[in-house]
Amino acid sequence: MQVTLLGTGDTTGTPTVGCGCETCQRAKAPDDELLARAREQGATITAGGGVERTRFSVHIHNERTDETLLVDFSPDFRQQFLREEVPLPDEAIISHIHFDHLDGLGNCFRLIEHLDVHAANETDPETGKSVAETVQSDYHYLDQIEVRPQTPLESFDACGFEVTLVPVNHPPLVCYGLVVEEPETGAKLALSGDTSYDIPEASRDVLADPDLLLADGIVPANLCEYHPTGGAHHDDDGTPRTFGTKHMTREGALSLAEELNATETRLVHIAHYYPADEAFEQPLALDGERYEL
Ligand SMILES: [Zn+2]
Ligand SMILES: [Zn+2]
Ligand SMILES: [Zn+2]
Repeated sequence: MQVTLLGTGDTTGTPTVGCGCETCQRAKAPDDELLARAREQGATITAGGGVERTRFSVHIHNERTDETLLVDFSPDFRQQFLREEVPLPDEAIISHIHFDHLDGLGNCFRLIEHLDVHAANETDPETGKSVAETVQSDYHYLDQIEVRPQTPLESFDACGFEVTLVPVNHPPLVCYGLVVEEPETGAKLALSGDTSYDIPEASRDVLADPDLLLADGIVPANLCEYHPTGGAHHDDDGTPRTFGTKHMTREGALSLAEELNATETRLVHIAHYYPADEAFEQPLALDGERYEL
């Protein structure tokens, strides 16, 4: 299983358009220390000489079947595929219907002949539709897409992998993390999805013991004081593991990684609000990193 992190940023990405903050500046014009670190962790240096975190997407190639599974359609789809020179997807998964995970799907037009798109079949009380139904109605004009509604916590085949969607907590919408397993080698990738720390027990059981965990760690916990609703799900030391209601803090994501017994962990869905001296520290991911599981 070859995993390429196409997009590791939050909904505005880093650098953020129109932002002059130190973190965005450092991404655009990295110092030698950051450049060396980025190269060491296999991140892609952009044509402009910077590093970046585009909107979320993960590319998973199955060498055994020579097929590619894409998790989420970033609005940066075109740029990501040009930059990484990876194969186009044969099948895909949509975790939830927020802009930064879904709105790249229109890129399939005149590019991909046929694409199975897997998404959860549970009705979201907020929208009255499941993720699968929203994808179907929003992209009804794309003949190349075939939506495959899936029942959470039940595994299905995609590109020769065993995939399971697991409910997470990302109010007000339903959202899913997922597990991708290669039945021949036993390799296991777990993704938290966009989520607070409050992931249901049944989902944690499925996510447990991954070779690689990609966990939402949008900001450091000390930034919760700037969120209108603060932080939640505090640990014994009083550190919030959830930022607001929708995402995990860095500390929450690391705590989840420990509880799940992840062999390796990369934090993703990272915001430019991290201070410049913390934004590129391990284990925060950068676009272009590749993992062989
Ligand atoms: Zn910024
Ligand atoms: Zn979201
Ligand atoms: Zn998101």
